[in-house]
Amino acid sequence: MATKQEVKKYLAYWFQLGKSVIAVDGKANFLPQPVIVGDRYSQEFEKCWLEIISPETGDCYLEGTIETINELLTPAWDMLPCGRCNMPVPMRNLGMPALFCPCNNLPNWPNTELPSPRSPVSTSEQLITIRDRLIENRH
Ligand SMILES: [Zn+2]
Repeated sequence: MATKQEVKKYLAYWFQLGKSVIAVDGKANFLPQPVIVGDRYSQEFEKCWLEIISPETGDCYLEGTIETINELLTPAWDMLPCGRCNMPVPMRNLGMPALFCPCNNLPNWPNTELPSPRSPVSTSEQLITIRDRLIENRH
């Protein structure tokens, strides 16, 4: 299943390509910039992330996709690299065919001449990811 850290990274990558997260009720729209400052996520991004997963905000989805962020956090989903552009994409792990990557309507993408979206190089973040995986593997 997709961990919170994986879903967070997924949003961070797509925010870097200008995709926004939209609340299903249309009341909120998130596109924090910058996403990364130095070797960590920006405060803007961290704040948006908390709002996106907050129950008060309700269901949200990434522009160009139909799965809600809450759905991605259920065991039915995995995060895998897109076959076309290598960006993280949610895939159903229950035998359903893969849905399309949000890159499907991005012109000029993939583009090897632009810097690729990335994760902050942060050891504590990586440790949290490893910890989350260990906790999940126990279930
Ligand atoms: Zn793609």
